[in-house]
Amino acid sequence: MTPPTGAHIIARSLRDLGITVIFGIVGIPVVEIAEEAINLGIRFIGFRNEQAAGYAASAYGYLTGRPGICLVVGGPGVLHGMAGIGNANVNAFPLLLLAGSSETNLVSRGAFQELDAISLLTPHTKLALRPSSLESIPDVIQNTYRISWYGRPGTGFVDLPADLIKGVVEDAEDVAEAAPIPNAPKGGVEEARLFKIAQLIKSAKAPLVVIGKGAAYARAEGVTRDLIDKTNLPFLPTPMGKGVIADSHSANTASARSTALKEADVVLVLGARLNWILHFGDAPKWNPAAQFIQVDISAEEIGRNSGNPELGIIGDIDIVVSQLISALDSWSYPASTPFIQHLSAAKSKNEATAASKASDSRTPMTYAHAFTIIEQTLHSLSPPNDAGIVYVSEGANTMDISRSIFPVSHPRLRLDAGTYATMGVGLGYAIAAHAAYNGSAAEGQSGPQGRKKVVCLEGDSAFGFSAMEVETMARYGMDILIFVINNGGVYHGDSDDAEAWLELQGKTLEGKSEGGLRSTSLGWEVGYEKIAEACGGVGYLVRTPEELERATREGFREGRVCVVNVMVEAGKGQKLEFGWQASGTEKTRKR
Ligand code: ADP
Repeated sequence: MTPPTGAHIIARSLRDLGITVIFGIVGIPVVEIAEEAINLGIRFIGFRNEQAAGYAASAYGYLTGRPGICLVVGGPGVLHGMAGIGNANVNAFPLLLLAGSSETNLVSRGAFQELDAISLLTPHTKLALRPSSLESIPDVIQNTYRISWYGRPGTGFVDLPADLIKGVVEDAEDVAEAAPIPNAPKGGVEEARLFKIAQLIKSAKAPLVVIGKGAAYARAEGVTRDLIDKTNLPFLPTPMGKGVIADSHSANTASARSTALKEADVVLVLGARLNWILHFGDAPKWNPAAQFIQVDISAEEIGRNSGNPELGIIGDIDIVVSQLISALDSWSYPASTPFIQHLSAAKSKNEATAASKASDSRTPMTYAHAFTIIEQTLHSLSPPNDAGIVYVSEGANTMDISRSIFPVSHPRLRLDAGTYATMGVGLGYAIAAHAAYNGSAAEGQSGPQGRKKVVCLEGDSAFGFSAMEVETMARYGMDILIFVINNGGVYHGDSDDAEAWLELQGKTLEGKSEGGLRSTSLGWEVGYEKIAEACGGVGYLVRTPEELERATREGFREGRVCVVNVMVEAGKGQKLEFGWQASGTEKTRKR
């Protein structure tokens, strides 16, 4: 038997950890690692930019509950991949980045793609290591993988010099195997604190449960649903916490969000941070007297913006919530308190307003009307209860306006720009969702969680960050359905007046510039659907509700990647102040 190379040991260590998919881009010196991995039965998904590969690997980590793996070259590959690191850390997604680097004997001499990646990434990762020998590779990969995963998830980094990748061990017996790592042990809360918190919830006049993406990641949907069903506590999902409990549940206060925040006096926060998304827990968005009970796996999170760390619980949501259900001892919140009445009145009013926006049938279409058509068509093909669709949504207006129009009934079926509000994640996330739920169509593998259609709702600006990943989707036979909501600009574009835009048609770029091209301008009526056609997919350009309905229906059934370029009203989307953004005028702290 020929002694194994470093590349083989690296690939084998990943396989031994149970890795089945690697996201990345190859080049010297990591191409050999990818080839060895493929030979060992690991699926390698090759991207067009490391940024998208990093985003994909981290989303795969979130969806599967174990670190996603990203493989890139050194130097510029690492720099591009850093976007994935930042995004994974801020979202608390588990990610293991592996990168090649220059030969160790050439460091400091201006070697090919030379970069001191360990120094660069140490402050940005939970652990950044370089194996000191071929024999230490399995151990280094195993530990970095475990650390990126256990505790609050984040990123781990392993630097792999070219000489190590190409090196050959003298005796294969000297290389240990990496052992699979079990799920992290789960912690709960001690009796005294549990009792105190149960009493506080029982004494609340206006209790509220906030459900974040930490609850989705923790796979705590069973107990969370049990808690709400047994107690009748009103709940509010965060944008990616949607689906932990079905949006259609009667205790969902999403459409009465402002009222819920303003009046809630005791707030149980399950896997969500009191950051900008939740207005830092501050008045005037929140009741100034609100008491926050944070449940989080991360000790450091407890007390941040909550006012009183004494009310925090460090523990796994799954365990803590089941303890809480026992401690509440069949107690339930009355069905007709003033709080419930206010929530119900606000829901009726807000839902009526939303319905009138949805039926505004002007042409060009409004965002709300276009989303309503897409949703109704998809609904008829795959009702939310079937959990047959994963939604990926990004772009300020697109993400914000679509969020309430597309109901989600199951956890981990909606990904968006997340905690970092990272635009450009969409196509990488869609590829990750396809890999997580569907495996490789080409190889006939089934994904870990059952087959699903991936549907992307992309603003034209957000789509542009990684549009070339449409080719990645086409190459791997991924039947992803992408809607590009095209208003010709970032946010609302550069004009409040669609007529002005139309006048600009046919003019040269210089002419347009003289006319006042704004920072938010993008090309007018760009044919994004042609990208799909160029790559072997299917494109639709739609302007009317009928065309959109048809494209949605056909696109859903299409077996190839499909881009539907949806012309919507320019200049009429919501402006910068979108729903989850904290306004600068609302900095008044309550305590
Ligand atoms: P959202 O974007 O939905 O508001 P965040 O990303 O702000 O959610 O918060 C998710 C939180 O969930 C993080 O603080 C993270 O530490 C926490 N978390 C992740 N997994 C678990 C778990 N198993 N148990 C408890 N908390 C968890």
